[in-house]
Amino acid sequence: MTRRLYYEDSHLRAFSAQVTGCTQTQKGWEVTLDATAFYPEGGGQPCDLGTLGGAKVLDVQERGEDVIHLCDAPVEGIVESIIQWDRRFDLMQQHTGEHMVSGVVCARYGWHNVGFHMGSDMITIDFDGPIPAEDLPQIEAQVNAYIWQDLQVRTLTPSPEELPHVIYRTKRALPWPVRIVTIPGVDTCACCGVHTKTTGEVGLVKLFSCVKFHQGVRIEMACGGRAMGILNEVYRQNRLVSQAFSAKIMETGEAARQMNERLAAAEYRIVSLERQIHDTIAAGYAGQGDVVHFQEGLRPDQVRELADRIAAVCGGTAAVFSGTENGHTMCLVNKNGDVKELGNALCKALNGRGGGKPGYFQGSVKAGQDEILAFFREQ
Ligand SMILES: [Zn+2]
Repeated sequence: MTRRLYYEDSHLRAFSAQVTGCTQTQKGWEVTLDATAFYPEGGGQPCDLGTLGGAKVLDVQERGEDVIHLCDAPVEGIVESIIQWDRRFDLMQQHTGEHMVSGVVCARYGWHNVGFHMGSDMITIDFDGPIPAEDLPQIEAQVNAYIWQDLQVRTLTPSPEELPHVIYRTKRALPWPVRIVTIPGVDTCACCGVHTKTTGEVGLVKLFSCVKFHQGVRIEMACGGRAMGILNEVYRQNRLVSQAFSAKIMETGEAARQMNERLAAAEYRIVSLERQIHDTIAAGYAGQGDVVHFQEGLRPDQVRELADRIAAVCGGTAAVFSGTENGHTMCLVNKNGDVKELGNALCKALNGRGGGKPGYFQGSVKAGQDEILAFFREQ
């Protein structure tokens, strides 16, 4: 049985302990100690990493009454161990913040935390009921107010007689003994994780989003240093946007909206100018019968539109192509006849593909201008 030093002091970073077992496995050496401050993965909280004597700790898991440290080298005797503190403290900030958000949501709406994921970026909490996204700022403000009150985070294990009288959040009915974590006035929850000593250590909580998930919602959030890191990156991105738009850093949203408006107006103008150009080109083919026309740099919809305009005035079949020596987009249009046969013949001769409806044939050929013109000369 391993003594759990992390429950006695969640801020213990270094300790010495007696090695009680060291077994080689395919993944490394499984080491047990008489006491450990390494938190094993559990309760949604990832395990601690660090060093154990001269060995690196790669993973920590609970097995029965023991804590198994997977190490990259064998160890023996009494070992000095060091926990990777920045990782542990970050995880405690996220985890304690999760308690606080869950407690506030439970008090406001009655919803329960039914899923929790702590990755390397934002963390997510799933609740079993709806929360309007516009409520997030209020929830966040309330949690931050509790953080700044620097409340004590307390853990206790009630006696079998006391336990039925303790009201706490839990995902399922738990047998005695139950470890209860309390943040006075904020949350009381059954939990096997490790927490900051006070809420002040959480620093801050930032709620980023709230989206529908199963029967409830999923909230994305981050706490402490991790929240600061994400907000710093958001600020850095916003500074780039502000430079690109020559806008004040707190007015980038309005600058982006205006830019979108200008862009939409410019696109509208371009489309109308393109139509004028197509009409001018089409006018040059009036009454000429069958027409083969090449135009550089057209999108497929523009090829179709130009073919349509020419066919309206030429009195025959309009064949419009746009592309390079490697291939062309094409559109064949005849207002009074069918172009399917011509389209299929083009595709067959010039390694192309396409289709359409009566009077229209759209597609592409893998051929340059000379080959296309040679095809039409043979018709
Ligand atoms: Zn906890």
